[in-house]
Amino acid sequence: MPRIYSARHPQPCAVALAAHDAARRIDGPLFSMTTNLSYVHPHADSPWGTYLAQVDRVTPYLGHLARWVETLKRPKRALVVDVPIEMDDGTVAHFEGYRVQHNLSRGPGKGGIRYHPDVTLEEVMALSAWMSIKNAAVNLPYGGAKGGVRVDPKRLSIKELERMTRRYTSEIGIVIGPQQDIPAPDVNTNPQIMAWMMDTYSMNVGATATGVVTGKPIHLGGSLGRVKATGRGVFVTGREAARRIGLALEGARVAVQGYGNVGSAAAELFAQAGAIVVAAQDHTGTITNSRGFDMADLSAHVKATGGVAGFRGAEPLDDESFWDVRCDILIPAALEGQLTAARAQRLHARLVLEGANGPTLPAADDILADRGVLVVPDVICNAGGVTVSYFEWVQDFSSFFWTEDEINVRLDKILIGALKKIWDTADHHRITLRTATFAVACERILAAREERGLYP
Ligand code: NAD
Repeated sequence: MPRIYSARHPQPCAVALAAHDAARRIDGPLFSMTTNLSYVHPHADSPWGTYLAQVDRVTPYLGHLARWVETLKRPKRALVVDVPIEMDDGTVAHFEGYRVQHNLSRGPGKGGIRYHPDVTLEEVMALSAWMSIKNAAVNLPYGGAKGGVRVDPKRLSIKELERMTRRYTSEIGIVIGPQQDIPAPDVNTNPQIMAWMMDTYSMNVGATATGVVTGKPIHLGGSLGRVKATGRGVFVTGREAARRIGLALEGARVAVQGYGNVGSAAAELFAQAGAIVVAAQDHTGTITNSRGFDMADLSAHVKATGGVAGFRGAEPLDDESFWDVRCDILIPAALEGQLTAARAQRLHARLVLEGANGPTLPAADDILADRGVLVVPDVICNAGGVTVSYFEWVQDFSSFFWTEDEINVRLDKILIGALKKIWDTADHHRITLRTATFAVACERILAAREERGLYP
């Protein structure tokens, strides 16, 4: 039987175990994968399987709202689209695209668009569900959604990328809109792609609709601070968690996996706060320097070459050894499922800050809790991006734009307030920060579900 531990007191906890027994009565065993959807086949380590296990863990804390919990185990709406485009050489290529709206009880759908060759419907379902949890945890007036196209964008020319983005946007145009569902950037998508999406949607509806996507370029209704917001949120929640466990940032050693939008921004902020970034890994390779990287040089290298490999101010390392690097803080900021049970056993860090969505498998979560490693879960740690996306959406509607200082002050206040509530919930029930975040979020989502009632 999986054990449940307090984030602060890494021993089996009587209250949590009693609650776990209650969970078995309500919901069957943990990892029960109770969703009987015909179109996905989750297993314990798949993204949707990971999400279902997380919901099972929180069920005992939902009180009378537990009767609605099945709502969280199935997406409200999942759209699969064919995206045909003419390639530069005159051939026609077809890509598979998705937009999943997991839950809309608290407001319109909100969540990013991912371009990656490994994207599947099941992955997008999990990512959309984590958006429902994240938006509710930070108390944004949104449901959860996510989209993706199964494509390696690095193999497309810029014109092919634009044609694919526009056709995909047209295909999902029947479910998105400023009041329905608002996409944003995720892995391999950026402000330029958001600009094409906004333009395509606007052409189709016959009016400029800036509020249909967030993460746009500034002069198209984008918000100051959005590009670095997710990394900033990782830093702000990480700084707060470090303070609470007595870990000084000055001299703290940081390892970061994924040196893209999220990982690089978070790493730079930690370095500015006095930490030293000693290891980095991305799709091009792994590098390390026990004295810390020169961050400006590393940033220039990644910009020039597209990845961390070959950086002169560091030694190359084989990819698996990344998980053995001596560090105090680990920031997984690449893809799901990276922190496996085997890697969790070897980790040196005291603090794991989940910049990526779903980087830690449930079995690894248990091992980390057992070893007294504090995990700040994705659903609060990387919520800075969607929070500033929310600011962008509000600014677009009011056509009144805030300064970057105003954005950052409001962002920090929201994240610190949300983390405090989650921390108090974790202390109260003696559960991990992940289960506490799910408890806070699921209660808000299911209370909205109950208050709205079932139609018809
Ligand atoms: P990005 O495309 O800017 O960067 C992704 C990084 O991951 C790149 O450095 C890439 O090289 C690396 N990577 C890819 N495959 C890898 C592998 N197999 N091993 C190691 N590294 C690998 O994407 P991003 O926007 O920084 O997103 C990173 C993560 O953060 C994703 O999980 C995403 O869902 C999550 N996230 C992003 C945002 C946002 O605002 N962009 C918000 C919340 C969460």
